[in-house]
Amino acid sequence: MTDTRTDTAAPFRFDNSYARDLDGFYVPWKPAAAPQPELLYLNRPLAQELGLNAQALSGAAGAAVFSGNQVPDGAQPLAQAYAGHQFGGFSPQLGDGRALLLGEVIDRHGQRRDIAFKGSGRTPFSRGGDGKAAIGPMLREVLIGESMHALGIPTTRALAVAGTGEPVHRETPLPGAVLTRVAASHLRVGTFQFYAARGDEVRLRQLLDYTVARHDPDLIGAPDRALRLLQRVGERQAALIAQWMGVGFIHGVMNTDNMTLSGETIDYGPCAFMEAYDPQAVFSSIDHGGRYAFGNQPHIARWNLARLAETLVPLIDPEPERAVALATAVIDAFPGWFQTRWLAVHRAKLGLQAATPEDDEADTALLQAWLDLLHTQTVDFTLGWRRLADAAQGNDAALQPLFADPAPLAAWLSAWRERTARDDAAARSEAADRAPRMRAINPLVIARNHRVEEALDAASARHDMQPFERLLAALQRPFDDDGAQAAYAQPAPAELAERYQTFCGT
Ligand code: AMP
Ligand code: MG
Repeated sequence: MTDTRTDTAAPFRFDNSYARDLDGFYVPWKPAAAPQPELLYLNRPLAQELGLNAQALSGAAGAAVFSGNQVPDGAQPLAQAYAGHQFGGFSPQLGDGRALLLGEVIDRHGQRRDIAFKGSGRTPFSRGGDGKAAIGPMLREVLIGESMHALGIPTTRALAVAGTGEPVHRETPLPGAVLTRVAASHLRVGTFQFYAARGDEVRLRQLLDYTVARHDPDLIGAPDRALRLLQRVGERQAALIAQWMGVGFIHGVMNTDNMTLSGETIDYGPCAFMEAYDPQAVFSSIDHGGRYAFGNQPHIARWNLARLAETLVPLIDPEPERAVALATAVIDAFPGWFQTRWLAVHRAKLGLQAATPEDDEADTALLQAWLDLLHTQTVDFTLGWRRLADAAQGNDAALQPLFADPAPLAAWLSAWRERTARDDAAARSEAADRAPRMRAINPLVIARNHRVEEALDAASARHDMQPFERLLAALQRPFDDDGAQAAYAQPAPAELAERYQTFCGT
């Protein structure tokens, strides 16, 4: 057979519910042509999870598909409409300005997943932008997304990156690329905001039913589904952000168009993992006020949830006052959900077992004292936690050098040991299991900024993919400790760390 179309196009078995059920919520659109497509990255395990034939999608066939040159059979590419609050200011129309939803596939676990392009050219939502993306930011999305996935944090994932062979013009000309992104959906707070801003209650209700069917099917037909969806989104975001904070992740651009309803992390733009612990840490060059600083993330999630609540008011109850009261109760519950999740994440990081409710206050204080120590002594967040696992085995020698002043550490360690001893005495845990348990959740390797930049620079400036591939391999097993991992565990040299900034890469 010489029919190359079936080779490349057949592997996707699309079932496009968004295109089918939400007519009027998008504009059908085609990806731009790429003059010289080249497959730079294919996520084979993810391809397999999606029921795709990774072999058939590698090489030239994959380059044709993932650059947008050959739209696979069954895809119905479209640009989604959405609005959003960006840094607090509302834009009634954002939308997919450089992205397209190709369609959805049902994966091997029966989950519906969006397949979308990013960097595939201008659309009716592009405003002043060129619709394009450069290799660097797209490979960055691969690295950070795969790192988050390996850390067990809900995230959209990269299926492929293809070079287009065309320069994109930023401060300088850069090689262009298209990312193929896989997501539980691309529904976001901003999707609801788009129709709410237009007072289109019919479409809002349609969107509500679609969202519920997709993410909370147990709520289908429930009279109070709008309120309960709001609560579910809040609970998912509380859990997500608690996990982000457990690994020192700063999203950097938590605009309402970048907050999913699925609870997955989306849009890896100016994000970064923190090195020295600092709740005020900000990396994004455009976040002057620190709106999206590390420690501010739960407040922003709640703020975004309130924006979602506003859109749902007419669907929650025909009586506006009653609807607002119900929605407000959900928003007010968010800090409690977050606190519970945050404590659970960090208690496990401390090697403590879930204890009685009376322990919550004491454990929170113990945890806060640890974080204060990391902060005042500018300790590397990742290594601080990781070496605490060594201390769980009675070996403090690796931990101590991270702290300039040893006395407060010694005092804290003895309080911590009293607490772990209580767990062991109550047979909630065994001392011998503690260190391995801690190493299984406190990563050794995160996507350190200097390593990420080094990998992207090699790929973008020298077309050398090897540093990227090596870094990716290390990020995919973040809890392992061996010779290959050690090189990626080191913090950036101080002078680099201090002036590190991230950019949106648009
Ligand atoms: P982001 O900050 O990536 O979440 O994007 C915010 C908005 O800007 C979205 O509507 C994007 O589609 C749009 N956008 C970002 N970069 C570009 C670009 N290069 N061309 C057109 N639209 C863009
Ligand atoms: Mg976005």
